[in-house]
Amino acid sequence: MKTVHAVFALLAVLMMGCNSQKEMLVHPTASSAAIPIPAPKPPKNVILLIGDGMGTSQIYGGMIANHNVLALERFKHIGFIKTYSFDNIITDSGAGATAFSIGQKAYNNAIGVSADTLAHETVLESAAKAGKATGLIATSSITHATPASFVAHVPHREMHDDIAWEIVNSPLQLFIGGGRQYFNKREDGRDLIAEAQQRGYFMVDNEKAMNELPAHVRFGALLWEDAAPKKTDGRDDILPRATSFALDRLSQNEKGFFLMVEGSQIDWGGHANDADYIVQEMIDFDKAVAMALDFAEKDGETLVIVTADHETGGFAINGGDFKTGAVKGAFTTKKHTAVMVPVFAFGPGAEYFMGIQENTDLYAHMMHLMELKVSRAPQSWRAIKRN
Ligand code: MG
Ligand code: ZN
Repeated sequence: MKTVHAVFALLAVLMMGCNSQKEMLVHPTASSAAIPIPAPKPPKNVILLIGDGMGTSQIYGGMIANHNVLALERFKHIGFIKTYSFDNIITDSGAGATAFSIGQKAYNNAIGVSADTLAHETVLESAAKAGKATGLIATSSITHATPASFVAHVPHREMHDDIAWEIVNSPLQLFIGGGRQYFNKREDGRDLIAEAQQRGYFMVDNEKAMNELPAHVRFGALLWEDAAPKKTDGRDDILPRATSFALDRLSQNEKGFFLMVEGSQIDWGGHANDADYIVQEMIDFDKAVAMALDFAEKDGETLVIVTADHETGGFAINGGDFKTGAVKGAFTTKKHTAVMVPVFAFGPGAEYFMGIQENTDLYAHMMHLMELKVSRAPQSWRAIKRN
């Protein structure tokens, strides 16, 4: 009898083991609050937000000016990236964004090309090939180095006319920014706004017309001749509103989307050694981050990444006041600096962005997490048809 009891007892223990195993399978994330676990499934959508020239002082300056709070504080997965380019310990925005878009260290001024000037398919182009809707938003000209690096392939960032041509011929579902002059006041005399319309884009030059666009259409919103006005010169909340509008439109695509949003002018405040310019642009960019986070929290299948291409100005904070929002800034240079910059991530795969990594690793993680493959071999940038 004792033996029988012992056998039953053993069976009971084994069955309890089975039950708890089943429970684990039914509730695989029950204990995930404290322990980071691998992404349960790939993110359907990726929103990459780039604060140009946004180092930790720019962030903290914005936080002081915004009375000790930023949406960036909602992130729990945080790391740093090393920003040096192929040929310089201090990167420019071309090589910086190209590191994110093609996963290679390029020389300063490069746009979507590697150190040998070969044109590589970008993460945005790979996402589009996989059926994802893609978008670009910037408060600079849309042909400026950061947004350009996701869709264009030229050996130098100043080739705005060529970049505009590549934007028109890109797979973009939407683009919102400045730089109208590079589309319709060109050296070659062509009207790329008309040519974009022939290629199926709805082209608008103001926000009201953008908001009235029919659903599901491809569009380009060229809101300014060149860059957007500075925040300190009265620009309103167009960046967060454009971000929200783009998310609304892109999320209609069944296969998901890739969106890049740039707070372009944090960098320009650094070049101007103007702390007020920096912190106002920082707060504006943070509002766009909030839009992305709000969307991702509801959606559950969206990875949000916020980072910078480099720091600008050697900006330091020598004092400030949370109540008045005053920031006492100091600067070491009117140029970029070599320091690491932060990366924040939220959503499926966010843990990939923790620790200290190369800027090129962001490309690898985005491609891996979205399960994307490069579909076009590197080619001469000249081989890309331009007429
Ligand atoms: Mg930029
Ligand atoms: Zn700069």
